[in-house]
Amino acid sequence: MHNPDEIRITGLKFYAYHGVYDSEKEKGQPFMVDITLRANLREAGISDNLTKTVNYAEAAGVAAEIFMSRKFDLIEAAAEAMAGGLLRKYSMLSSVSIEVYKPEAPIGMEFDNVSVYITRKRHKAYIAVGSNIGDGPATIEKASELLGANEDITIVKKSSLITTKPYGPVKQDDFTNGVWEVDTLLTPEELLFKMHETENALGRERLVHWGPRTIDLDIIYYDDLILDSEDLTIPHADMHNRDFVLKPLMELAPCKRHPLFNMTTAQMLEVLSAEG
Ligand code: ATP
Ligand code: CA
Ligand code: CA
Repeated sequence: MHNPDEIRITGLKFYAYHGVYDSEKEKGQPFMVDITLRANLREAGISDNLTKTVNYAEAAGVAAEIFMSRKFDLIEAAAEAMAGGLLRKYSMLSSVSIEVYKPEAPIGMEFDNVSVYITRKRHKAYIAVGSNIGDGPATIEKASELLGANEDITIVKKSSLITTKPYGPVKQDDFTNGVWEVDTLLTPEELLFKMHETENALGRERLVHWGPRTIDLDIIYYDDLILDSEDLTIPHADMHNRDFVLKPLMELAPCKRHPLFNMTTAQMLEVLSAEG
């Protein structure tokens, strides 16, 4: 969502017990919090209807409850917890910024203020799933339950499953393939880690590259991110050559453009089909 509107709550005041030192956890000190909630407020503006927006009093309450729920060492951690809590509770929020001020922090000098300011976003990712050992559809269903059990991953849509001939030189059973659209608060690396945990829980063994597997989960897209690191290539480096990725993706995102090739799913599938 581009240029979302903002709801801002500034100067929320708390007396709390956050800090690395024992004295801070015992005596406590004043804190201040600013909250910026980003969402499209057009519908609320047109309809004048509270259910179309985020109730700021309630949101402030959610943040306050998290802030006062425990003694954090770091205001970084307090800010992270509040941003995550707000994004999890309100699905209409595209991003949240939090600033936590600690005006009497033990700095040993005179200073005006010290604060931490963070912005956390909701991301849309597409995950390709494949299975060719055992009951493919059942394994894929189990994988979606396991991955979706994470509080920071919501599987929003699932394509239908297709059966395809195995890819690559290894002789093996047919594959069951599909694509999921997920809403996540995780970074790509964190998401990949959770996907690997799911694969491992379902008994994935990495024996032969492109060989048989109970389950394979690959990140196809993560927003419009372009990333090339040792562990992760996004968009998936070979997706445009795989009809078992493009066909299910057609159901969920026919018009989404590959951020490097600037081609829609439909166009990539057309090129692939023409190549035979
Ligand atoms: P392919 O990636 O060609 O489909 P594969 O899925 O069989 O092959 P794996 O053995 O499952 O390969 O994964 C090997 C490594 O690929 C992973 O450990 C991961 O670090 C890396 N990788 C790179 N980009 C991605 C991505 N977009 N999604 C998932 N894994 C990726
Ligand atoms: Ca794969
Ligand atoms: Ca993989």
